Amino acid sequence: MTPATTLNGRKVALFGLGGSGIATARALAEGGAVVTAWDDNPESVAKAESAGIAVADLRGVDWAGFASFVLSPGVPLTHPKPHWTVDFARGAGVEIIGDIELFSRERAARAPDAPFIAVTGTNGKSTTTALISHILAASGRDTQMGGNIGRAVMTLDPPAPDRFHVVECSSYQIELAPSLNPSAGILLNLTPDHLDRHGTMQRYAEIKERLVAGSDTAIIGVDDAFCVQIADKLERVGKEVVRISKRLPLTDGYFADSTDLMEAVQGQYERIGFLEGIGSLRGSHNAQNALAAVAACLKVGLDLGEIQSGLESFPGLAHRMEQVGRRGRVLFVNDSKATNADAAAPALSSFPRIYWIAGGLAKEGGIDALRSFFPRVAKAYLIGEAAPAFSATLGGAADYEISGTLEAALGHAAADAARDETGEVVVLLSPACASFDQFRNFEIRGDAFREAVLALEGIEPFGGKR
Ligand code: ADP
Repeated sequence: MTPATTLNGRKVALFGLGGSGIATARALAEGGAVVTAWDDNPESVAKAESAGIAVADLRGVDWAGFASFVLSPGVPLTHPKPHWTVDFARGAGVEIIGDIELFSRERAARAPDAPFIAVTGTNGKSTTTALISHILAASGRDTQMGGNIGRAVMTLDPPAPDRFHVVECSSYQIELAPSLNPSAGILLNLTPDHLDRHGTMQRYAEIKERLVAGSDTAIIGVDDAFCVQIADKLERVGKEVVRISKRLPLTDGYFADSTDLMEAVQGQYERIGFLEGIGSLRGSHNAQNALAAVAACLKVGLDLGEIQSGLESFPGLAHRMEQVGRRGRVLFVNDSKATNADAAAPALSSFPRIYWIAGGLAKEGGIDALRSFFPRVAKAYLIGEAAPAFSATLGGAADYEISGTLEAALGHAAADAARDETGEVVVLLSPACASFDQFRNFEIRGDAFREAVLALEGIEPFGGKR
């Protein structure tokens, strides 16, 4: 745990008692703050109370006495409208912060030069965070990973000069972390997402920009217009900016030439690594993630050998193009995290011949946006409520069947793929749908797929090594 000592002896209000809220309340108390915590859900309040956290309804307390108000990132600060506690805090002039802010202050107080990599973007945050953490740990560095992935940031070991923190930050967390100042800050990409929580794209981009604006070195993916603007702007004000691109030959920065990772210095290129043969980092989206990881790891002192060896041993993350197993020429891939068409696109673009399991609870637009990939689909196996609508979209463009359940879809897809004689083929679960009609969440859907694949006769599992 990282005790939050910077509020020692002060009164602090805290709202939101999910897992990270409880961890933050503990870290505050451990650091000497006097915490008053609350949640709109009585069960969460009871759970916190039994964990020894002081709780009180924040409607009935004197806000003027609080030095800070710590808000959970899941709770609305602005959109669709501020949570009631936000009104109380603003009314009393109390600062509103989150756990990443507490971590940043703790680092500033204890070990301001401790290596700290923060990662944000619309897509690829978790993969990039896990990849960097893996490369660092594989090279023997003392590595702590958390934030919006895995463990809440205040449960990690405290910042220290030789300890590397890799922290994934959602926009909500950045918004609540005004002094976030990582050694290397990564902004991977920016596309419209979560606008319900941020209002406009402009505002969403401004929040993401803060993470790189506050960092010593700003690593920015320049494959979309919003990020290019941010990179240009930061460079103009003298910030050290490292540009990465999954496609362009940059004049300066890091870019991908197919599976080769290139460094450009004043228009001169050099190959500094490669992704060829690394199944967990297939696809150009993963080239973007890998380039960001390379840039960040170089920044914090690793050498190219250490980085390449970490890339090669990266096991990948569950449910994100996770390679589950192989049977002969047929690879089985779990991309259950793809809960809408945009999220399914990277997987569909990464394999040339696909037995595609799709469906569930459709999002607006269905699979219209995926039309350009239909020629790669050997056959689609449609499940859940979306099946009739998806079959209409596929029309004559790709062969399909309505399988109904995931189990039936897998059985039929595995049998058809086994008969395919065209070379490497994949049975891919990339549903382009939410799971809620048949599964509680995408993880449970992906677990069900993995289990069913591993139960197939003759399957060779990838296990930890993918
Ligand atoms: P996040 O943490 O930002 O939600 P993840 O790393 O969990 O992102 O990846 C989720 C999905 O997003 C992946 O399954 C993949 O389809 C897609 N994805 C991953 N990296 C990128 C990227 N750099 N650009 C676009 N899409 C990506």
